[in-house]
Amino acid sequence: MFWRFFSFIACQILGGLAGWYAASFTQAPTSGLVGILAGVVLAGVGWFLLDTSRGAHLLRWLRVGDASEAAMRTGLWGELSDRVRRLIRSREQMTIESQNRLHDFLLALQASPNGVMLLDARGQIEWLNQTAASHFGLDVQRDLRQHLGNLVRDPGFASYFASHDYRGELTMPGRDNTPERPVRLSVHLHPYGAGRLLLLSSDITAVEQAEAMRRDFVANVSHEIRTPLTVLAGFVETLQTLALNDQERARYLDLMAQQAGRMQTLVNDLLTLSRLEGSPPPGASEGISMPTLMRQLEQDARALSAVLNPAADHLHNLVFDSSLTGDIVGAPNELISAMSNLISNAIRYTPSGGEITVRTRLLPDDRAEFSVQDSGPGIAPEHLPRLTERFYRVDRSRSRDTGGTGLGLAIVKHVAQRHGAELKIESTLGKGSVFRIIFPASRVRPFGVGHDPIAGPVGPTH
Ligand code: ADP
Repeated sequence: MFWRFFSFIACQILGGLAGWYAASFTQAPTSGLVGILAGVVLAGVGWFLLDTSRGAHLLRWLRVGDASEAAMRTGLWGELSDRVRRLIRSREQMTIESQNRLHDFLLALQASPNGVMLLDARGQIEWLNQTAASHFGLDVQRDLRQHLGNLVRDPGFASYFASHDYRGELTMPGRDNTPERPVRLSVHLHPYGAGRLLLLSSDITAVEQAEAMRRDFVANVSHEIRTPLTVLAGFVETLQTLALNDQERARYLDLMAQQAGRMQTLVNDLLTLSRLEGSPPPGASEGISMPTLMRQLEQDARALSAVLNPAADHLHNLVFDSSLTGDIVGAPNELISAMSNLISNAIRYTPSGGEITVRTRLLPDDRAEFSVQDSGPGIAPEHLPRLTERFYRVDRSRSRDTGGTGLGLAIVKHVAQRHGAELKIESTLGKGSVFRIIFPASRVRPFGVGHDPIAGPVGPTH
């Protein structure tokens, strides 16, 4: 400010001196004073014009100027332009930082596994992430500024949206929902700011399916246990109330033992399943010798065939073909359980006299196959995909009559999966079925002789 004042006064003095000097060339007595005055006025106007042009330059720079360079360097205008430039740059810096923060924030919301949508006070979409777009079938660009109520037409959502009571969440069908492939969404609106809404959505299809499966499972287990329990309670009552002779009493006790056995088998299968689900996959330190196992399976199969067909003239025609001489690496108990489940099914569902072939072989690609083929009733194609579900039965009464629990194939599938193996089922109605477990090469020791046959460590011993 001092320099501005100083430059103005200096200009005036110089103008006055110049005027006085110019007047000294004239003869008039008052010309010196007039010259000084004229010089002062002219110098003032000049200073003012120069100053105004610097101010106009600064104004132009402010309108279109580049904030990286000050408009001028000296004087009051220079300082002003420098301060304005710094202010602009610090504001620009702040804007860039807040834009970066907003960008990072939106990226985080974009990465969220849940759908996120921001609605303004009129219910129009301000922003949405890709997950929300796919949940509701929207487009992240095209549908901005659209009223959400016009885009999501589900009646449940429409009444929830219009209710303005967002304390609870809404469960509604997702965009891709079909009767064959249900998709369920959980949607919750949260008011914030001045009438704005935050919408959070999540895909709860898997959770709902798991919950439905859990309910079905509990209902199935209760039903399976209740049936033999009811029969057992009936027999107990009969024994308590009726005077029975020894023969009748023995018959009733036999039937009671059968029912108790049925419950025991069911509980054992349930425990096996829960053990399979809860334990880590079997390692490579154990295994089982297939020729030895096949001998044991054959003995058990012949015994079961005899038990199930006590009055039959001829039992099943059982063929055991063990061309795999090595080991299968894995948990022996699980492998025995899976293989004997398949053999027991074949014997239970194939009428007496039928043919059952159990085979092990090494495939050309070093995988190993265990297969059970029967000439039983076969299974219609529509049942095949569901056979390994717990408690799924094609022939309920045949399964029960022969002591089935409906869990056998679920156990087989679990064991196969835990060993990296595949369970393949082929069946022709009226002709028979083939159940195969195909073990990966990593689970096969083709020449694994010389170890404890059933549960010993795998590998040659010297
Ligand atoms: P279950 O204890 O009832 O035998 P599984 O899980 O072992 O239960 O088998 C499921 C259903 O698959 C059985 O109820 C039966 O209807 C059908 N099934 C299994 N194996 C055979 C087979 N070898 N032949 C015909 N049907 C079979």
